[in-house]
Amino acid sequence: EATIEVAGLRKRFGQTMALDGMSFTVEPGQVTGFVGPNGAGKSTTMRVILGLDKADEGTALVGGRPYTGLRNPLHHVGALLDASALQPSRTARNHLLWLAHSQGLGAGRVDEVIEQVGLGSAARRRAGGFSLGMRQRLGIAAALLGDPPVLMLDEPVNGLDPEGIVWMRGLLRSLAAEGRAVLVSSHLMSELEDTAGHLVVVGRGRVIADTSVAELIATA
Ligand code: ADP
Ligand code: ADP
Repeated sequence: EATIEVAGLRKRFGQTMALDGMSFTVEPGQVTGFVGPNGAGKSTTMRVILGLDKADEGTALVGGRPYTGLRNPLHHVGALLDASALQPSRTARNHLLWLAHSQGLGAGRVDEVIEQVGLGSAARRRAGGFSLGMRQRLGIAAALLGDPPVLMLDEPVNGLDPEGIVWMRGLLRSLAAEGRAVLVSSHLMSELEDTAGHLVVVGRGRVIADTSVAELIATA
Protein backbone atom coordinates (compact mmCIF):
# COMPACT_ATOMS: atom_id res chain seq x y z
CA GLU A 1 0.00 0.00 0.00
CA ALA A 2 1.46 3.32 -1.10
CA THR A 3 1.71 5.84 1.69
CA ILE A 4 2.25 8.89 -0.48
CA GLU A 5 0.48 9.12 -3.81
CA VAL A 6 0.96 12.14 -6.00
CA ALA A 7 -0.92 12.20 -9.30
CA GLY A 8 -0.91 14.79 -12.03
CA LEU A 9 0.05 17.76 -9.88
CA ARG A 10 0.21 21.08 -11.69
CA LYS A 11 1.13 24.34 -10.03
CA ARG A 12 1.93 27.67 -11.60
CA PHE A 13 3.54 30.63 -9.86
CA GLY A 14 2.95 33.50 -12.26
CA GLN A 15 4.83 32.55 -15.42
CA THR A 16 6.67 29.69 -13.72
CA MET A 17 5.28 26.18 -14.15
CA ALA A 18 6.59 24.79 -10.86
CA LEU A 19 4.74 21.47 -11.20
CA ASP A 20 3.83 20.12 -14.61
CA GLY A 21 2.16 16.75 -14.14
CA MET A 22 4.14 15.48 -11.14
CA SER A 23 3.15 11.86 -10.38
CA PHE A 24 4.79 9.20 -8.20
CA THR A 25 4.18 6.96 -5.21
CA VAL A 26 6.21 6.34 -2.07
CA GLU A 27 6.05 2.88 -0.50
CA PRO A 28 6.66 1.92 3.13
CA GLY A 29 9.84 0.20 4.23
CA GLN A 30 12.30 1.97 1.97
CA VAL A 31 13.91 5.31 1.34
CA THR A 32 12.64 7.02 -1.79
CA GLY A 33 15.14 9.51 -3.15
CA PHE A 34 13.54 12.59 -4.73
CA VAL A 35 16.33 13.90 -6.93
CA GLY A 36 16.59 16.80 -9.32
CA PRO A 37 18.22 20.16 -9.86
CA ASN A 38 17.24 23.25 -7.90
CA GLY A 39 13.95 24.57 -9.17
CA ALA A 40 12.72 21.14 -10.34
CA GLY A 41 9.69 21.30 -8.04
CA LYS A 42 10.73 19.08 -5.12
CA SER A 43 9.91 21.55 -2.34
CA THR A 44 6.68 22.62 -3.99
CA THR A 45 5.60 18.97 -4.25
CA MET A 46 6.28 18.46 -0.54
CA ARG A 47 4.47 21.68 0.32
CA VAL A 48 1.45 20.58 -1.71
CA ILE A 49 1.45 17.16 -0.01
CA LEU A 50 1.43 18.96 3.35
CA GLY A 51 -1.35 21.32 2.31
CA LEU A 52 0.98 24.35 2.59
CA ASP A 53 0.59 25.11 -1.13
CA LYS A 54 -2.48 24.36 -3.20
CA ALA A 55 -2.04 22.64 -6.55
CA ASP A 56 -3.93 23.97 -9.55
CA GLU A 57 -4.64 20.39 -10.62
CA GLY A 58 -4.01 16.84 -9.43
CA THR A 59 -4.13 14.97 -6.15
CA ALA A 60 -1.74 14.33 -3.27
CA LEU A 61 -2.66 11.69 -0.71
CA VAL A 62 -1.02 10.51 2.52
CA GLY A 63 -2.21 7.06 3.60
CA GLY A 64 -5.04 7.38 1.10
CA ARG A 65 -6.27 10.77 2.28
CA PRO A 66 -5.51 14.40 1.63
CA TYR A 67 -3.29 15.83 4.37
CA THR A 68 -5.92 18.38 5.32
CA GLY A 69 -8.35 15.53 6.02
CA LEU A 70 -6.09 13.80 8.54
CA ARG A 71 -7.29 14.10 12.12
CA ASN A 72 -3.89 13.99 13.84
CA PRO A 73 -1.54 14.92 10.99
CA LEU A 74 1.69 14.63 12.98
CA HIS A 75 0.86 11.01 13.75
CA HIS A 76 0.64 10.38 9.99
CA VAL A 77 3.50 12.35 8.49
CA GLY A 78 6.56 14.13 9.81
CA ALA A 79 8.30 16.71 7.66
CA LEU A 80 11.54 18.61 7.58
CA LEU A 81 11.27 21.51 5.15
CA ASP A 82 13.85 24.10 4.25
CA ALA A 83 12.21 26.78 6.27
CA SER A 84 11.28 24.66 9.29
CA ALA A 85 10.20 27.03 12.01
CA LEU A 86 12.58 27.15 14.93
CA GLN A 87 12.15 29.04 18.16
CA PRO A 88 15.63 30.59 18.52
CA SER A 89 15.22 31.72 22.11
CA ARG A 90 14.15 28.31 23.37
CA THR A 91 16.42 25.44 24.22
CA ALA A 92 16.22 22.47 21.86
CA ARG A 93 14.32 20.51 24.47
CA ASN A 94 11.89 23.34 25.20
CA HIS A 95 11.32 23.83 21.48
CA LEU A 96 10.23 20.19 21.21
CA LEU A 97 8.15 20.37 24.39
CA TRP A 98 6.44 23.47 23.01
CA LEU A 99 5.84 21.76 19.68
CA ALA A 100 4.48 18.61 21.34
CA HIS A 101 2.15 20.72 23.46
CA SER A 102 0.96 22.94 20.63
CA GLN A 103 0.25 19.92 18.42
CA GLY A 104 -1.61 18.01 21.09
CA LEU A 105 1.06 15.30 21.32
CA GLY A 106 2.26 14.08 24.68
CA ALA A 107 5.72 15.08 25.91
CA GLY A 108 6.57 11.40 26.28
CA ARG A 109 8.70 11.11 23.14
CA VAL A 110 10.65 14.35 23.50
CA ASP A 111 13.73 12.92 25.23
CA GLU A 112 13.68 9.84 23.01
CA VAL A 113 13.76 11.83 19.76
CA ILE A 114 16.48 14.13 21.14
CA GLU A 115 18.64 11.04 21.72
CA GLN A 116 17.66 9.58 18.36
CA VAL A 117 19.05 12.61 16.50
CA GLY A 118 22.18 12.84 18.66
CA LEU A 119 21.33 16.13 20.36
CA GLY A 120 21.44 14.74 23.91
CA SER A 121 24.35 16.88 25.02
CA ALA A 122 22.88 20.04 23.43
CA ALA A 123 19.30 19.56 24.60
CA ARG A 124 19.52 22.39 27.11
CA ARG A 125 21.27 24.89 24.84
CA ARG A 126 19.43 27.66 23.00
CA ALA A 127 18.53 26.57 19.48
CA GLY A 128 19.38 30.06 18.19
CA GLY A 129 23.08 29.27 18.68
CA PHE A 130 22.94 25.99 16.77
CA SER A 131 24.93 25.27 13.62
CA LEU A 132 22.92 24.47 10.49
CA GLY A 133 23.65 20.78 11.01
CA MET A 134 22.30 20.91 14.57
CA ARG A 135 19.23 22.74 13.31
CA GLN A 136 18.68 19.98 10.77
CA ARG A 137 18.92 17.42 13.57
CA LEU A 138 16.43 19.38 15.65
CA GLY A 139 14.09 19.63 12.66
CA ILE A 140 14.26 15.86 12.25
CA ALA A 141 13.57 15.38 15.95
CA ALA A 142 10.46 17.52 15.47
CA ALA A 143 9.41 15.42 12.47
CA LEU A 144 9.76 12.24 14.55
CA LEU A 145 7.77 13.52 17.55
CA GLY A 146 4.46 12.04 16.44
CA ASP A 147 6.06 8.66 15.54
CA PRO A 148 4.67 8.97 12.00
CA PRO A 149 4.70 6.13 9.42
CA VAL A 150 5.58 8.66 6.70
CA LEU A 151 8.53 11.07 6.68
CA MET A 152 9.34 13.78 4.15
CA LEU A 153 12.72 15.43 4.42
CA ASP A 154 13.73 18.28 2.10
CA GLU A 155 17.52 18.34 1.61
CA PRO A 156 18.22 16.98 5.11
CA VAL A 157 21.99 16.77 4.64
CA ASN A 158 22.24 20.49 3.93
CA GLY A 159 24.74 21.96 6.37
CA LEU A 160 25.85 18.63 7.79
CA ASP A 161 29.55 17.85 8.03
CA PRO A 162 30.84 14.55 6.57
CA GLU A 163 30.29 12.77 9.87
CA GLY A 164 26.75 14.17 10.01
CA ILE A 165 26.07 12.96 6.47
CA VAL A 166 27.11 9.42 7.38
CA TRP A 167 24.91 9.64 10.47
CA MET A 168 21.96 10.89 8.40
CA ARG A 169 22.27 8.01 5.95
CA GLY A 170 22.17 5.54 8.83
CA LEU A 171 19.16 7.27 10.36
CA LEU A 172 17.24 7.23 7.05
CA ARG A 173 17.99 3.53 6.59
CA SER A 174 16.89 2.67 10.12
CA LEU A 175 13.65 4.68 9.79
CA ALA A 176 12.88 2.77 6.60
CA ALA A 177 13.85 -0.55 8.23
CA GLU A 178 11.22 0.20 10.88
CA GLY A 179 8.69 0.08 8.05
CA ARG A 180 8.27 3.80 7.51
CA ALA A 181 7.93 5.44 4.13
CA VAL A 182 10.75 7.96 3.80
CA LEU A 183 10.83 10.56 1.01
CA VAL A 184 14.13 12.45 0.90
CA SER A 185 15.00 15.18 -1.56
CA SER A 186 18.40 16.16 -2.83
CA HIS A 187 19.81 18.05 -5.79
CA LEU A 188 22.68 15.53 -5.82
CA MET A 189 22.14 11.95 -6.93
CA SER A 190 25.37 10.98 -5.18
CA GLU A 191 23.89 11.89 -1.78
CA LEU A 192 21.13 9.32 -2.15
CA GLU A 193 22.40 6.50 -4.35
CA ASP A 194 23.72 4.49 -1.37
CA THR A 195 20.66 5.11 0.77
CA ALA A 196 17.60 5.11 -1.45
CA GLY A 197 16.09 1.85 -2.71
CA HIS A 198 13.78 3.80 -4.99
CA LEU A 199 14.64 6.89 -7.00
CA VAL A 200 12.24 9.47 -8.38
CA VAL A 201 14.25 11.78 -10.61
CA VAL A 202 12.57 15.07 -11.49
CA GLY A 203 13.15 18.03 -13.74
CA ARG A 204 10.96 21.01 -14.68
CA GLY A 205 8.08 19.97 -12.47
CA ARG A 206 7.71 16.38 -13.65
CA VAL A 207 9.18 12.92 -13.20
CA ILE A 208 11.86 12.02 -15.72
CA ALA A 209 12.82 8.63 -14.23
CA ASP A 210 11.22 6.41 -11.61
CA THR A 211 13.20 3.28 -10.83
CA SER A 212 14.48 0.97 -8.15
CA VAL A 213 18.17 1.38 -7.50
CA ALA A 214 18.69 -2.34 -8.20
CA GLU A 215 17.14 -1.89 -11.64
CA LEU A 216 19.26 1.19 -12.26
CA ILE A 217 22.46 -0.69 -11.45
CA ALA A 218 21.41 -3.70 -13.54
CA THR A 219 20.85 -1.55 -16.62
CA ALA A 220 23.91 0.67 -16.15
P1 ADP B 1 13.20 22.58 -5.80
O1 ADP B 1 12.70 22.27 -4.44
O2 ADP B 1 13.31 21.36 -6.67
O3 ADP B 1 14.46 23.37 -5.77
P2 ADP B 1 10.95 24.37 -5.90
O4 ADP B 1 9.74 23.54 -5.71
O5 ADP B 1 11.45 25.15 -4.73
O6 ADP B 1 12.10 23.47 -6.55
O7 ADP B 1 10.70 25.42 -7.06
C1 ADP B 1 10.11 25.08 -8.31
C2 ADP B 1 9.95 26.34 -9.10
O8 ADP B 1 8.89 27.11 -8.54
C3 ADP B 1 11.16 27.26 -9.08
O9 ADP B 1 11.22 27.90 -10.33
C4 ADP B 1 10.84 28.22 -7.95
O10 ADP B 1 11.50 29.45 -8.10
C5 ADP B 1 9.35 28.37 -8.12
N1 ADP B 1 8.67 28.71 -6.86
C6 ADP B 1 8.59 27.93 -5.75
N2 ADP B 1 7.87 28.53 -4.79
C7 ADP B 1 7.51 29.72 -5.29
C8 ADP B 1 6.75 30.81 -4.79
N3 ADP B 1 6.22 30.78 -3.56
N4 ADP B 1 6.56 31.87 -5.59
C9 ADP B 1 7.06 31.91 -6.85
N5 ADP B 1 7.77 30.91 -7.39
C10 ADP B 1 8.01 29.83 -6.63
P1 ADP C 1 14.37 24.92 -2.27
O1 ADP C 1 15.41 25.11 -3.31
O2 ADP C 1 14.77 23.98 -1.19
O3 ADP C 1 13.03 24.63 -2.86
P2 ADP C 1 13.67 27.66 -2.18
O4 ADP C 1 14.65 28.71 -1.81
O5 ADP C 1 13.32 27.42 -3.59
O6 ADP C 1 14.19 26.31 -1.51
O7 ADP C 1 12.30 27.90 -1.40
C1 ADP C 1 12.24 28.38 -0.09
C2 ADP C 1 10.89 29.09 0.10
O8 ADP C 1 10.81 30.20 -0.81
C3 ADP C 1 9.68 28.22 -0.20
O9 ADP C 1 8.64 28.57 0.67
C4 ADP C 1 9.31 28.58 -1.63
O10 ADP C 1 7.92 28.39 -1.87
C5 ADP C 1 9.68 30.05 -1.68
N1 ADP C 1 10.13 30.45 -3.02
C6 ADP C 1 10.95 29.77 -3.85
N2 ADP C 1 11.14 30.44 -5.01
C7 ADP C 1 10.40 31.57 -4.91
C8 ADP C 1 10.16 32.67 -5.78
N3 ADP C 1 10.69 32.73 -7.01
N4 ADP C 1 9.38 33.67 -5.34
C9 ADP C 1 8.83 33.60 -4.13
N5 ADP C 1 9.00 32.58 -3.25
C10 ADP C 1 9.77 31.58 -3.64
